[in-house]
Amino acid sequence: MTPAQSIPRARTIEWQVAGACNYDCSYCIQSREYRRGRPRREQLERAIATFAELPGAWEIKCSGGEAFAHPLFMAYVVPELMARTPHRISVLTNFSATHAELMEFARQTRGRLAVFSASLHLESVSAEEFATKAAWFQMLLDEDTRFVVNQVVLPGREDEAARCRAVIEGRGLRWFPQLYKVDGGVAEYPSPAALIPLVGRRPTSREANVAPSYRGKLCWAGVDYFVVDKDGDAWACRTAKRYGEGALGNAFDGSLARALAPQPCAYDICPCTVPANRGMIEGVTGGAEVFE
Ligand code: SF4
Ligand code: SF4
Repeated sequence: MTPAQSIPRARTIEWQVAGACNYDCSYCIQSREYRRGRPRREQLERAIATFAELPGAWEIKCSGGEAFAHPLFMAYVVPELMARTPHRISVLTNFSATHAELMEFARQTRGRLAVFSASLHLESVSAEEFATKAAWFQMLLDEDTRFVVNQVVLPGREDEAARCRAVIEGRGLRWFPQLYKVDGGVAEYPSPAALIPLVGRRPTSREANVAPSYRGKLCWAGVDYFVVDKDGDAWACRTAKRYGEGALGNAFDGSLARALAPQPCAYDICPCTVPANRGMIEGVTGGAEVFE
């Protein structure tokens, strides 16, 4: 039986290139204790060698902590990924990298940069300053690279998010709301009336990072999608990791082994939009575009 598949599956790795971050946002979903650590050069080398051996074409989505804050990200990871693997690269960043670093990143990844997600954190930068930098950077990118500005919409501060959205969209940029997550689910919002104009009544994974349940649906997480954490441990998906399940070995010690076949989802919550937007979940139309 061929399961319903509404968008093509795009093989994707979410790689936490660094645990550490150069920001310390009060609303960070990662605890300060967890937000530490940067893999060493030899660990990065082994991870890249592991990714190079994967069959076919993948998208490697680099995140953190903050990837650009790892001194080896621009000095080693990006050039090695480009030189030693055939894969495309994406990045989720707080966009604190310097203009020089961003120019160099755009140059090195030209033709192979899939998605660049820049997260706006008002505790560290103003919306106006961010928008100016983002508008400049977007001009450096290929037309088929998707550039998006993410922002966490904090409960009770929807007006602030709406103002930022106007600033970002006023520069011709795409703005993507991130719902605030607690314990793997979406936080309570005091005023749905304030939230709906930002994310819609029933947002899809294209419109916001909702946390639906896909329990029972066939899912290719572990086969054509997996996450690699800052310690090199690979997991079928983030929810599986939360439950200590779906372990796929380690990318630093060469023991990474993908699952052989898709399995029905065993969880009540799927907080990440990437599996839905990359066509991993039977019958889920994340949309032809991906923004995260
Ligand atoms: S930039 Fe992101 S990872 Fe860093 S502290 Fe802020 S929310 Fe956390
Ligand atoms: S549907 Fe979501 S939570 Fe379920 S296995 Fe797939 S990625 Fe994990």
